[in-house]
Amino acid sequence: MIFPVVSTHNFLKASGDNLTRSIKRSGSTFVVGVTGGIGSGKTTVCNLFHELFGIPIIDADIIAKDVVKKNQPALQAIVAEFGDSILTESGELDRPKVKKLVFSDPTRRKILERIVHPEVRKEMNVQISRVSASYCLLSVPLIAESTNKSMFDRILVVDCDEKIQMERVISRDKLANETVVAIMNTQASRKDRLAIADDIIVNNGPTSQLNDQVQSLHETYQALPTADN
Ligand code: ADP
Repeated sequence: MIFPVVSTHNFLKASGDNLTRSIKRSGSTFVVGVTGGIGSGKTTVCNLFHELFGIPIIDADIIAKDVVKKNQPALQAIVAEFGDSILTESGELDRPKVKKLVFSDPTRRKILERIVHPEVRKEMNVQISRVSASYCLLSVPLIAESTNKSMFDRILVVDCDEKIQMERVISRDKLANETVVAIMNTQASRKDRLAIADDIIVNNGPTSQLNDQVQSLHETYQALPTADN
């Protein structure tokens, strides 16, 4: 996710107007935002696009961690704002501490977002500009919670039943039931996420059921025009 602390917001929904989004796009690469709740199968789906068709994946979670690494301007700005007690002994960002610090304080959370989000967006744009494929996937767990959807030409939601979602997260992350429920409660509801979808991949069955859905969407995305053609 862009930064875990933003997930308590329940922001506006996208217009869902595919045409508007694709016309707005100025670059030559078509950007598909991939979103879904924790454990819905975003990573699994993105990996399939990559394995089957070599489609590049840009991962907001990874970028969000990279931009606050040691010596990065965002980390320096965070320290300037919150003091160096939010650093570990080795000078890294103490993520649990920051989370705690801003979790119940919307003002602090906004400050943090104002520091981190532009850096994340900047790096996403750099990575998008390097893509030579006709389209790329931009995996952003919190699209439904974020107001800025202008980066995406299209939004793909990976959806699965909440019961299955919980089972998969518990099995993957070895978390307690209540912890998974608490995380899910900080994310957009399934209904809100589906409301912003241009495309939906249903991930209730075995992974073998994903191939056809991925193949069909790949064909759709390849056929979509970008602003340059
Ligand atoms: P996300 O990236 O949305 O958090 P993942 O792709 O990591 O979700 O999937 C969550 C867990 O569920 C992973 O351990 C993954 O291997 C598993 N998983 C995903 N899709 C399926 C599926 N269709 N059948 C069985 N396990 C799945």
